[in-house]
Amino acid sequence: MRSQDIPGDLSEILFTEAQIKARVQEMAAEIDRDYAGKEPLLVGVLNGAVMVMADLYRALTIHAQMDWMAVSSYGSGTQSSGVVRILKDLTQDVVGRDVLVVEDIVDTGLTLTYLLENLASRGPKSLKLAAMFRKPEANKVHIDMAYVGFDIPNKFVVGYGLDYDGRYRNLVDVGILDPKVYS
Ligand code: 5GP
Repeated sequence: MRSQDIPGDLSEILFTEAQIKARVQEMAAEIDRDYAGKEPLLVGVLNGAVMVMADLYRALTIHAQMDWMAVSSYGSGTQSSGVVRILKDLTQDVVGRDVLVVEDIVDTGLTLTYLLENLASRGPKSLKLAAMFRKPEANKVHIDMAYVGFDIPNKFVVGYGLDYDGRYRNLVDVGILDPKVYS
Protein backbone atom coordinates (compact mmCIF):
# COMPACT_ATOMS: atom_id res chain seq x y z
CA MET A 1 0.00 0.00 0.00
CA ARG A 2 1.21 3.50 -0.89
CA SER A 3 0.15 6.87 0.52
CA GLN A 4 -1.78 7.52 -2.74
CA ASP A 5 -3.97 4.52 -1.89
CA ILE A 6 -5.26 6.15 1.32
CA PRO A 7 -6.04 9.76 0.32
CA GLY A 8 -6.70 11.99 3.34
CA ASP A 9 -5.57 9.48 5.97
CA LEU A 10 -2.13 11.05 6.40
CA SER A 11 -1.70 14.70 7.36
CA GLU A 12 1.96 14.53 6.28
CA ILE A 13 4.30 12.06 4.62
CA LEU A 14 7.50 11.94 6.64
CA PHE A 15 9.56 9.38 4.72
CA THR A 16 9.12 7.74 1.35
CA GLU A 17 9.87 4.11 0.63
CA ALA A 18 13.12 5.12 -1.08
CA GLN A 19 14.29 7.22 1.88
CA ILE A 20 13.59 4.40 4.29
CA LYS A 21 15.39 1.88 2.09
CA ALA A 22 18.47 4.10 1.84
CA ARG A 23 18.61 4.66 5.60
CA VAL A 24 18.25 0.94 6.34
CA GLN A 25 21.23 0.26 4.05
CA GLU A 26 23.31 2.78 6.01
CA MET A 27 22.31 1.21 9.33
CA ALA A 28 23.19 -2.25 8.01
CA ALA A 29 26.62 -1.02 6.93
CA GLU A 30 27.27 0.24 10.46
CA ILE A 31 26.13 -3.05 11.96
CA ASP A 32 28.33 -4.97 9.48
CA ARG A 33 31.33 -2.96 10.65
CA ASP A 34 30.58 -3.15 14.38
CA TYR A 35 29.86 -6.89 14.39
CA ALA A 36 32.59 -7.99 11.98
CA GLY A 37 33.75 -11.49 12.94
CA LYS A 38 30.69 -11.99 15.16
CA GLU A 39 27.32 -13.59 14.53
CA PRO A 40 24.70 -11.46 16.26
CA LEU A 41 21.23 -12.59 17.22
CA LEU A 42 18.71 -10.04 15.96
CA VAL A 43 15.71 -9.95 18.27
CA GLY A 44 12.63 -8.41 16.72
CA VAL A 45 9.65 -7.14 18.61
CA LEU A 46 6.39 -8.22 17.01
CA ASN A 47 4.48 -6.99 15.14
CA GLY A 48 5.84 -3.53 14.42
CA ALA A 49 9.45 -4.56 13.75
CA VAL A 50 8.55 -7.04 11.01
CA MET A 51 9.34 -4.67 8.13
CA VAL A 52 12.54 -3.18 9.54
CA MET A 53 13.77 -6.65 10.54
CA ALA A 54 13.10 -8.07 7.07
CA ASP A 55 14.95 -5.22 5.37
CA LEU A 56 17.79 -4.76 7.88
CA TYR A 57 18.50 -8.48 8.17
CA ARG A 58 18.70 -8.91 4.40
CA ALA A 59 20.93 -5.85 4.03
CA LEU A 60 23.58 -7.33 6.34
CA THR A 61 26.61 -8.95 4.73
CA ILE A 62 27.69 -10.74 7.93
CA HIS A 63 26.12 -13.91 9.28
CA ALA A 64 23.35 -13.20 11.76
CA GLN A 65 20.36 -14.98 13.24
CA MET A 66 16.84 -13.88 13.96
CA ASP A 67 14.38 -14.46 16.76
CA TRP A 68 11.17 -12.78 17.90
CA MET A 69 9.39 -11.60 21.01
CA ALA A 70 5.92 -10.19 21.39
CA VAL A 71 5.06 -7.78 24.17
CA SER A 72 1.91 -5.86 24.86
CA SER A 73 2.06 -2.13 24.18
CA TYR A 74 -0.53 0.35 22.94
CA GLY A 75 -3.51 -1.88 22.29
CA SER A 76 -5.79 0.00 19.94
CA GLY A 77 -5.23 3.51 21.28
CA THR A 78 -2.54 6.07 20.48
CA GLN A 79 -1.11 6.59 23.99
CA SER A 80 1.47 4.42 25.76
CA SER A 81 -0.01 2.58 28.72
CA GLY A 82 3.24 1.58 30.40
CA VAL A 83 1.89 -1.91 30.86
CA VAL A 84 4.28 -4.51 29.47
CA ARG A 85 3.63 -8.22 29.25
CA ILE A 86 5.59 -10.87 27.38
CA LEU A 87 3.11 -12.51 25.04
CA LYS A 88 5.69 -14.56 23.13
CA ASP A 89 9.22 -15.30 24.29
CA LEU A 90 12.40 -16.11 22.34
CA THR A 91 12.92 -19.61 21.07
CA GLN A 92 16.71 -19.35 21.41
CA ASP A 93 19.00 -19.06 24.40
CA VAL A 94 20.80 -15.71 24.53
CA VAL A 95 23.54 -16.69 27.00
CA GLY A 96 26.88 -15.57 25.55
CA ARG A 97 25.26 -14.17 22.41
CA ASP A 98 25.69 -10.73 20.87
CA VAL A 99 22.07 -9.63 20.98
CA LEU A 100 20.80 -6.77 18.87
CA VAL A 101 17.20 -5.79 19.58
CA VAL A 102 15.43 -4.48 16.49
CA GLU A 103 12.53 -2.12 17.16
CA ASP A 104 10.19 -0.13 15.00
CA ILE A 105 9.88 2.98 17.17
CA VAL A 106 10.89 4.22 20.59
CA ASP A 107 8.52 6.70 22.17
CA THR A 108 8.43 6.74 25.98
CA GLY A 109 10.84 3.81 26.01
CA LEU A 110 8.72 2.07 28.66
CA THR A 111 8.36 -1.08 26.61
CA LEU A 112 12.04 -1.22 25.78
CA THR A 113 13.33 -0.45 29.25
CA TYR A 114 11.47 -3.49 30.47
CA LEU A 115 12.52 -5.64 27.53
CA LEU A 116 16.21 -4.70 27.72
CA GLU A 117 16.36 -5.35 31.49
CA ASN A 118 14.69 -8.69 30.94
CA LEU A 119 17.14 -9.67 28.18
CA ALA A 120 20.17 -8.37 30.12
CA SER A 121 19.27 -10.66 33.02
CA ARG A 122 19.63 -13.70 30.73
CA GLY A 123 23.39 -13.24 30.34
CA PRO A 124 24.02 -12.14 26.75
CA LYS A 125 27.60 -11.30 25.80
CA SER A 126 26.45 -7.92 24.55
CA LEU A 127 23.10 -6.17 24.19
CA LYS A 128 22.41 -3.30 21.82
CA LEU A 129 19.42 -1.64 20.24
CA ALA A 130 18.53 -0.68 16.70
CA ALA A 131 15.33 1.32 16.17
CA MET A 132 13.95 2.69 12.94
CA PHE A 133 12.26 5.72 14.52
CA ARG A 134 12.84 7.72 17.68
CA LYS A 135 10.48 10.26 19.20
CA PRO A 136 11.66 13.16 21.42
CA GLU A 137 10.37 11.50 24.63
CA ALA A 138 12.87 8.69 24.11
CA ASN A 139 15.70 11.02 25.12
CA LYS A 140 14.32 11.29 28.65
CA VAL A 141 14.91 7.65 29.52
CA HIS A 142 18.33 6.13 29.71
CA ILE A 143 18.33 3.81 26.75
CA ASP A 144 21.47 3.53 24.71
CA MET A 145 20.25 3.41 21.13
CA ALA A 146 23.21 2.23 19.13
CA TYR A 147 21.47 2.52 15.74
CA VAL A 148 18.64 4.94 14.96
CA GLY A 149 17.01 5.35 11.58
CA PHE A 150 15.24 8.69 11.93
CA ASP A 151 14.28 11.12 14.66
CA ILE A 152 10.63 12.08 14.24
CA PRO A 153 8.26 14.62 15.84
CA ASN A 154 5.99 13.71 18.73
CA LYS A 155 3.08 12.71 16.49
CA PHE A 156 1.33 9.41 15.92
CA VAL A 157 2.84 7.87 12.80
CA VAL A 158 1.89 4.86 10.70
CA GLY A 159 3.46 2.77 7.96
CA TYR A 160 6.48 0.48 7.58
CA GLY A 161 5.17 -1.88 10.26
CA LEU A 162 3.57 0.78 12.44
CA ASP A 163 -0.18 0.38 12.76
CA TYR A 164 -3.28 2.09 13.95
CA ASP A 165 -5.77 -0.52 15.12
CA GLY A 166 -4.07 -3.16 12.98
CA ARG A 167 -4.14 -1.05 9.82
CA TYR A 168 -1.39 0.70 7.82
CA ARG A 169 1.43 -1.72 8.67
CA ASN A 170 1.64 -2.49 4.96
CA LEU A 171 2.01 1.16 3.99
CA VAL A 172 5.44 1.45 2.34
CA ASP A 173 5.86 5.13 3.26
CA VAL A 174 5.69 6.55 6.78
CA GLY A 175 3.46 9.46 7.67
CA ILE A 176 1.53 11.25 10.39
CA LEU A 177 -1.95 9.82 10.79
CA ASP A 178 -4.56 12.52 10.40
CA PRO A 179 -6.33 12.86 13.78
CA LYS A 180 -9.69 12.67 12.00
CA VAL A 181 -8.99 8.95 11.44
CA TYR A 182 -9.05 8.22 15.18
CA SER A 183 -11.27 10.99 16.58
P1 5GP B 1 7.05 3.18 24.09
O1 5GP B 1 6.98 2.13 25.15
O2 5GP B 1 8.45 3.51 23.64
O3 5GP B 1 6.28 4.42 24.47
O4 5GP B 1 6.23 2.62 22.85
C1 5GP B 1 6.70 1.58 22.11
C2 5GP B 1 5.65 0.99 21.19
O5 5GP B 1 4.52 1.83 21.06
C3 5GP B 1 6.19 0.82 19.79
O6 5GP B 1 6.86 -0.40 19.63
C4 5GP B 1 4.94 0.93 18.95
O7 5GP B 1 4.31 -0.32 18.88
C5 5GP B 1 4.07 1.89 19.73
N1 5GP B 1 4.17 3.27 19.25
C6 5GP B 1 4.83 4.32 19.81
N2 5GP B 1 4.70 5.43 19.06
C7 5GP B 1 3.96 5.08 17.99
C8 5GP B 1 3.49 5.80 16.82
O8 5GP B 1 3.72 6.98 16.60
N3 5GP B 1 2.77 5.08 15.94
C9 5GP B 1 2.46 3.76 16.11
N4 5GP B 1 1.75 3.18 15.16
N5 5GP B 1 2.88 3.06 17.18
C10 5GP B 1 3.62 3.71 18.11
